[in-house]
Amino acid sequence: MDVTLSPSYDAHQQVVSIDDAESGLHAIIAIHNTNLGPAVGGCRMYPYSDKAEALEDVLRLSRGMTYKSALAGLPMGGGKAVIIGDPASDKTPQLFAKMGEFIDSLNGQYISAEDSGISVSDLKLVAQNTSHVLGINEQQAFGGDPSPLTAYGIFCGIKAAVEFKYGRSSLNGARVAIQGAGAVGRNLAKSLIDAGAEVLIADINEQNNQAAERLGASLVAVDEIISADADVFSPCAMGAIINDVSIARLSAPIVAGGANNQLAVPQHGEMLRKRGVLYAPDFVINAGGIIEICRQYQNGSVDDCYRQIETIRDTLTQIFQLSSEQQICTSVVAEQLAEERFIGDSVKNAVQSAA
Ligand code: NAD
Repeated sequence: MDVTLSPSYDAHQQVVSIDDAESGLHAIIAIHNTNLGPAVGGCRMYPYSDKAEALEDVLRLSRGMTYKSALAGLPMGGGKAVIIGDPASDKTPQLFAKMGEFIDSLNGQYISAEDSGISVSDLKLVAQNTSHVLGINEQQAFGGDPSPLTAYGIFCGIKAAVEFKYGRSSLNGARVAIQGAGAVGRNLAKSLIDAGAEVLIADINEQNNQAAERLGASLVAVDEIISADADVFSPCAMGAIINDVSIARLSAPIVAGGANNQLAVPQHGEMLRKRGVLYAPDFVINAGGIIEICRQYQNGSVDDCYRQIETIRDTLTQIFQLSSEQQICTSVVAEQLAEERFIGDSVKNAVQSAA
């Protein structure tokens, strides 16, 4: 398969795949860019219909990680791994052991962590064969699970968006519609409720709905959350949720949530702007988890980690201002700022090493 022909190919530094009949492992690792440091990004397990679909996903996700780490000010590049398989039925210790060997073969150029379909216990099996795995040390804050810190970053980002849009520094009385009551959605709901916001939430999983309801959130039907009467729509479930159909149904003037790759295509960023919707780019607002993963990598303090996550608020405010001044959508402004960091730095390094 020629990866350069893939629609999501973006001059990725390295893309490797494995098909191992013995363990049943079919996986791809994509390293997008390592100008700022080793490529860090989660390992996802999903029943992709074929290898081309998996390749698209890993190329897109790894690129996103480069932009996310650059804008979060981390000394890290972007990478991602995908395992083709059903997390409900295809997991075996042999498969994860082989995945460990596969990651190890890249000699630390790619460092893995959790992503959807992969748990801490799966990653521990992977780590038997490689040291290039983060987020598995349960002695770490939050047992190594970064989702509470991802949620904290989104909370800070929602504050920035509400302040920019309405000139209000408090979330007291704000109505936030959260799509997805998983790890991120529920942690976010709790912080918002504690801050006096009214939270509407919808999940396809009834147990997660009930857990959110116990926190004080009000349940909304799954297909009505996007059109719920709210100040903020916060996608915390799956990607491509901002599309032609959903934009027409969206009621909230702010979109600010944790899901990766929220825009189905980049042009949806401009569609939101033209409708007067303030969009907090996903790879900026959901960086709390990768900031925590970087803290584990550098063995930094939890207090410093919180402080760094709080800078998401300043970064978003800068993006909102530039977007308003230049009449360019926030997602494009954010990409430009990130590129200044990771491409700018590589240019600087090349000049320094040539001198
Ligand atoms: P999760 O699997 O714990 O939660 C996702 C929830 O979304 C589940 O409860 C699921 O039932 C629900 N869901 C799926 N489809 C839905 C639909 N159509 N409508 C309503 N609910 C639906 O995952 P998570 O860790 O909470 O992550 C949520 C999102 O944030 C994902 O897109 C993930 O990639 C992204 N993200 C997570 C982290 C992290 O630290 N966990 C970091 C960055 C980005």
